[in-house]
Parts: sequence; structure tokens; C-alpha cells
Amino acid sequence: MQTFDVVIIGGGIVGSSIAWHLTAAGCKRVLVIERESAQGKGSTGKSMGGVRAQFSTPVNIQMSLYSIPFYARFDETLGHPAGYRPQGYLFLATRQAHLDYLRANFARQEALGLEEVRMISTEEIAAMLPQLRSDDILGGSFCPTDGFVDPYSAMNGFMAGAQEHGATLWKKTEVAGITTDPRGVTGVETSRDPVSARVVVNAAGAWASEVARTAGIHLPVEPLRRMLVPSEPFDEFPHTSPMVIDMSNGFHFRPEARGFLLAWNDPEETPGYKTDFEPSFIEKILNHAANRVPAFENLAVNPKRAWAGLYEMSPDHHAILGEVPELPGFYLANGFSGHGVMHAPATGKILSDLILEGNTAVVSDVSVLGFQRFAKGALLHETAVL
Ligand SMILES: Cc1cc2nc3c(=O)[nH]c(=O)nc-3n(C[C@H](O)[C@H](O)[C@H](O)COP(=O)(O)OP(=O)(O)OC[C@H]3O[C@@H](n4cnc5c(N)ncnc54)[C@H](O)[C@@H]3O)c2cc1C
Repeated sequence: MQTFDVVIIGGGIVGSSIAWHLTAAGCKRVLVIERESAQGKGSTGKSMGGVRAQFSTPVNIQMSLYSIPFYARFDETLGHPAGYRPQGYLFLATRQAHLDYLRANFARQEALGLEEVRMISTEEIAAMLPQLRSDDILGGSFCPTDGFVDPYSAMNGFMAGAQEHGATLWKKTEVAGITTDPRGVTGVETSRDPVSARVVVNAAGAWASEVARTAGIHLPVEPLRRMLVPSEPFDEFPHTSPMVIDMSNGFHFRPEARGFLLAWNDPEETPGYKTDFEPSFIEKILNHAANRVPAFENLAVNPKRAWAGLYEMSPDHHAILGEVPELPGFYLANGFSGHGVMHAPATGKILSDLILEGNTAVVSDVSVLGFQRFAKGALLHETAVL
């Protein structure tokens, strides 16, 4: 039986970042196990690639304060591209409650060291993007270092870098179970060979609860379908635009290739492993689009190019990170609730720090993200979920 120091279950962007951070810190005997024939077939390849530090809770803001500068230096650090484009995120408030919320978040973000974020007036918004309908906009917030990355490319860069440092990737291999003894984790059973390791990391994305169940752990992570609609080439809106978020209904969009990528989280969506695209979604999202950008009345979309993927929802919309107290050696990197791409760099560093050092300085108190918060009823609340 082969022995590794760390086995990572799942070769998406989170597993890949953990592998890179571990090997960069000198832990070389790392095995990543991915059941698909290629990486990126889970949520990572379906993502919109948005990265932002405009969150409401300190821990999410701090995760972004590590991750976004990391993405900015990614290409020179790893020698592979992540496609970071700092075009910003622009939140549009249409009610006083939104504006109060953005102001409170802005104060928290600034206090934690985010220098670039600012509140922005209706007039500035109208001057920045005159194509927006702004008669109901009361103001907003804008952070120019927020923006987009190419998730697939970043995932591949992390994994290539990890492999250059000695990590091993097994594809087409499914983890069927986690093995234990009275001291904790002893390894994994797989569709290939069993593997021995005293540290096993669950980075199985929307499937994380199934992996945890094999170790007798109830992990509260649920899959939730999200759909994206890309447009055909369109020139009546600037391609330098930030991600624009209409807070009146959650509709958001960003430039993508020669067109735009449209997103909206349908509140009627229910949990489940649904990855089929629902054609009736197109009419709903185009209504929201034309409501905020009148020129989008003429936006052409091809339903065949639209797609669906899964968010990995936790009960409080925050990641679940760290060792499971009941099972020494079993680490979680789960429950990103739609933020796994933007928080992958911080997650990789945090998991590597926790595994190798037992603590981390990436966030001021990593225990708030621990699995034990559910048993204690100490849930966090992040309302800025997109
Ligand atoms: C439509 C959409 C838009 C999104 N937009 C954004 C965005 O703008 N910004 C952002 O930050 N995030 C976004 N997300 C969320 C983001 O994509 C995820 O949070 C992130 O990709 C999670 O990465 P992961 O590596 O944990 O999961 P995944 O990429 O799903 O990887 C998990 C891997 O584990 C493998 N696996 C599962 N079970 C097993 C097993 N038993 N054995 C072996 N392998 C296994 C799977 O095959 C998969 O490859 C979006 C998601 C969707 C669906």
C-alpha cells in the first residue's frame, strides 16, 4: 500500500490550491484524488470567476485580503496564468436598507485594511456607466481591485505547480471511504488502491457531505443549482465594465469575451444534484437584464451555450475549514456557498498552515469557520451571497 503525508479528496480549485500551498511549504508527499477523467468537471469549471473583497463579515473579508493580492501575483509566483482582471465590483443600492448595509460593510472592509473600496454616488455611477437605468439607484459601493479570474486556468496552475514540487494526482479514481483507527484517520479506500495517510482533506465541493458520511461525520453541505447565461457579442455596453450587482433583485453581470455573462440566483431554486440548464430561466434573466440596462433589450443569447452548476451551501453561507475534532487527521475545506474560487488561495494557505503548524495568521480567528460551530450553534451570518 502506498503511503502519503496528506491525501486530498477532490481535484477542483480548492484541492489544487491546498496541494500547491502544502508543497510550497515543503510537504511533498501529497496525493490528490479526483474521480473524473479531467479536473474542473465539478463546480470550478462552471464558475463565473468573480473575485471580491466586498463582504460583510470580517472572516470573509480577510479571506479575500489574502486571495485577491495572491491572484494579482499568481502568474509570477506560480509561472502559470490565473487571468486576474481587476475590473471591480459595483454594487447598486435601490433601497435605503441596501445603502446602510453597504456603508456598514465599507467601514468594516476599510478597518480591516482594504484601501481601494469606496462608496459611490448615483451621479458617479451614471457617469461611470451611462447605459445603466439609474432613476431608482440611491448610490452604491465600488472596489476596483475586485474583478475576475479564469477559474479553470487558476486550478490548472495550482495543480501544475504542486506537481512540479512533488505532488501526485490520480485521476479517474473515486474515494469510496475513509479508514480510521482509535487514533484517527489512517487513509482512504479508493476505486484504485487503498492509500495510507494520517491526514485526509475533504475538498469534494458539492459532494463533500457524501465523502464525510463515509467517515461517520454529518457535514451540513448541500448542493444548490446556479445557472449562467452568456450573451452573443454585444458592443452597446463597455467591456471594461466591472461586475455590476443590482441589489433590487440580485441580478448581476460581467463582460465575458465579446459579450456578457448574466447571473441571477433564482430564489425558487431548491437543493439537489441538478445540473441540467432550465430553458425557462432565460426569459426571467433577460427581463432583469433589460430592466437594469435598457440596451440589453437587444442582447442575443443562445440557450445551447448556457449552463448550470452547483453551489456547495453551508447553513450560514461560510466555508467550513479545519480539522474535525471527533476525527483527528480529517480536515475539511468545504461549504464555500459560491465563493470557492475567490477564496481558494486563502483556503490553501489556511489548510496548509493548520496541517503543518496547527495555526494560521491568514484570518484573525480561524476557529469561527470550524466544524464545531454547528454543534455549538455559533453560526456566522453573511448576507452578501451572490
Ligand atoms: C454557476 C456558478 C457560478 C459561480 N461563480 C463563482 C464566482 O463568481 N466566484 C467564486 O468564487 N465562486 C463561484 N462559484 C463557486 C465555485 O465554483 C466553487 O465554490 C468552487 O469551484 C469550489 O471548488 P472545489 O474545488 O471545492 O469544488 P469542485 O470544483 O466541485 O471540485 C470538487 C472535486 O471533487 C471531486 N470529487 C467529489 N467526490 C469525490 C470522490 N468521492 N472521490 C474523488 N473525487 C471526488 C469532483 O469530481 C470535483 O472535481 C460558482 C459556482 C457556480 C456553479
